[in-house]
Amino acid sequence: MSRFWTDKIASLDPYVPGEQPQDKQYIKLNTNESPYSPSPKALVAMQEQVCDKLRLYPDPNCQTLKNALAKSYGVDANQVFVGNGSDEVLALAFMGYFAGGKPLAFADITYSFYKVYANLYGIEPKIIPLTESFDIDPVDYENLDVSGVVVTNPNAPTGKALPLSDIEKVLKANPDVVVLVDEAYVDFGAQSAVSLVNQYPNLMVVQTFSKSRALAGIRVGYAIAQPELIDGLERLKNSFNSYPIDRIALAGATAAVEDAEYLQEICDKTIATREWTVSELEKLGFEVLPSATNFVFVTHPKKDAETLYLSLKEQGILVRYFGKKPRIGEYLRITIGTDAEMQALIEALSA
Ligand code: PMP
Repeated sequence: MSRFWTDKIASLDPYVPGEQPQDKQYIKLNTNESPYSPSPKALVAMQEQVCDKLRLYPDPNCQTLKNALAKSYGVDANQVFVGNGSDEVLALAFMGYFAGGKPLAFADITYSFYKVYANLYGIEPKIIPLTESFDIDPVDYENLDVSGVVVTNPNAPTGKALPLSDIEKVLKANPDVVVLVDEAYVDFGAQSAVSLVNQYPNLMVVQTFSKSRALAGIRVGYAIAQPELIDGLERLKNSFNSYPIDRIALAGATAAVEDAEYLQEICDKTIATREWTVSELEKLGFEVLPSATNFVFVTHPKKDAETLYLSLKEQGILVRYFGKKPRIGEYLRITIGTDAEMQALIEALSA
């Protein structure tokens, strides 16, 4: 062990982000980024900050962004928390709401960062396997003795969505702990639980600017919940980093929220491209899980996932392969890019 490492550092098993290769230009279909430019209004707003304002601290309270999000979702501004990517919002929620001694329930398969945060904060994971059809069954979330529950809707990397009635079942079965619904991909075809926050004091919905708003590069995420839960996140944030969002990100994100039309336009385009891609993949013999996201989770009964991944990489197309693990290792996760990128993918797979 290194001289300076504590047992805690040595025991960390950190998250491994998707490949961001610098060696050559790939068609990048591996980290669920948007292939489109952010809202032109966001670009102008960010430019204004760069030209004139960077010597000044940003607003630590992110008030303009909170106001814009509150207006857009029909909640009060004190029901919105803003962080440096939804990863930071999740980290604070885990630290504050789930590190209570009891295990934290979440699915396997799901976003692999949850296990990393649980490990970091000494939280025992209570892993609830997906069903045979890769679904979250709300019945499995009843009678749990846990510090909290995380539900990813739509789930990643499977892409499958739950109806709100199932989310409500999980909320009702766990009234005394926070149920965090991670909606990173919700804009691509699932129902958001934001409409339920005023009904359920234990509900925290987390979303991001990284996917549907095409702003992964500025790192902004947010939570929407009743004021008490949001206040808890604010207290944690101000005990850690009181300026989570820089001026460029704040201005860009605010303008992006205000440009609802553009959001709709790129979501519609992504969904249309996804539907085309699914039908082409099925023609090639792939099994594709129904997706409510900007990616598809696919397997081929006759082709090994790793071989496909390597062959695509050699042809300059990067998709996500999860390594030789049970179940998930048989699948590839493919981000929906532009029409031209997906055509290139289908041509490469046909070859
Ligand atoms: N939740 C899920 C389910 C995700 O897939 C991701 C992105 N990998 C995140 C949260 C984090 O997104 P960001 O930190 O970019 O907001």
